[in-house]
Amino acid sequence: MGASTATTESPAGDVGPVVADGLPSGGPVPTEPGPPATPVATVLAVDIGGTKMEAGIVTVDGAILDRVRTPTPVSTDPMVVFGALASIVAEVLDRAPVRPVACGVGCGGPMAAGGSTVSPLNIHAWRKFPLLQHLVDLTRLPVAIDNDAKALALAEGWRGAAMESSNYLAMVVSTGVGGGIVLDGHLLDGSDGNAGHVGHVVVVPDGRPCACGGRGCLEAEASGTAIASATGRPAAEADEATRRRCGMLVGRAVGSVANLLDLQLVMVAGSVALGFGDDFFAAARQELALRCGLGYARSTRIEPAGLGADGPLVGAAAVARHRHGLARSGR
Ligand SMILES: [Zn+2]
Repeated sequence: MGASTATTESPAGDVGPVVADGLPSGGPVPTEPGPPATPVATVLAVDIGGTKMEAGIVTVDGAILDRVRTPTPVSTDPMVVFGALASIVAEVLDRAPVRPVACGVGCGGPMAAGGSTVSPLNIHAWRKFPLLQHLVDLTRLPVAIDNDAKALALAEGWRGAAMESSNYLAMVVSTGVGGGIVLDGHLLDGSDGNAGHVGHVVVVPDGRPCACGGRGCLEAEASGTAIASATGRPAAEADEATRRRCGMLVGRAVGSVANLLDLQLVMVAGSVALGFGDDFFAAARQELALRCGLGYARSTRIEPAGLGADGPLVGAAAVARHRHGLARSGR
């Protein structure tokens, strides 16, 4: 991948009328002027991952109006990474029909409370990087930052597969492995905002070394990075045995979490899990059944996340909505 690419996609979910003036559109031009449209408030949504970064404009109802994606630079200079992010943020802000009311960010963990500094395991140039201040300086908007998997958990409860659930785990299995937990209808934060890091649940005692310093963590055994390192090929080329092992280990970690927390639902997103498809999910469910014998845990379901490729941006918007009280209704 080279330069950033811009795409405009259809809104996610059931949303009200939105103002599309100034946006690329292939739709028909009305011949009769209708009643004046009321602009729907929007947020600037930013997703920061180890492989790619994306910025978008999302309505407070969860509809994506515009989005731009760019590869995450492989650099040891923190400002080179931030510069790439600043470029796509400026691009969507320049095109936005109305100025967003806030900025929401999903970023790989761990981080200090509120994202004042972030140290994503998959972005080596950022260690205690002051992301919050840099984004405030860049956008002059109120900025809310949270872990990207916690953002996904908020998004799935708002617009995705967990709208009917109050007790669930949302996971991302891609370059790394992340998670966010909603219990009794509330997103768990923990002392510093890092609750839900299911990627560092041990699934293979004394297994492969993990970037966290431990061994045998789920992330060290089942992430795209771990699979590429173990097999010498990209995770997308993994054979059936590797795909099933990945699912089995995710099921093992999920079993421990389900036993601990009495969950109804576990949603799994991420390019590795979704790319492995049925092999992954069948193995995960089989292992979960093996590990969860208690009545309350036996009913825990593992499903693909509902928002697909929209999850990260809707999640980033959900962080702003959650932290800045932009909600019209619901969780
Ligand atoms: Zn670890």
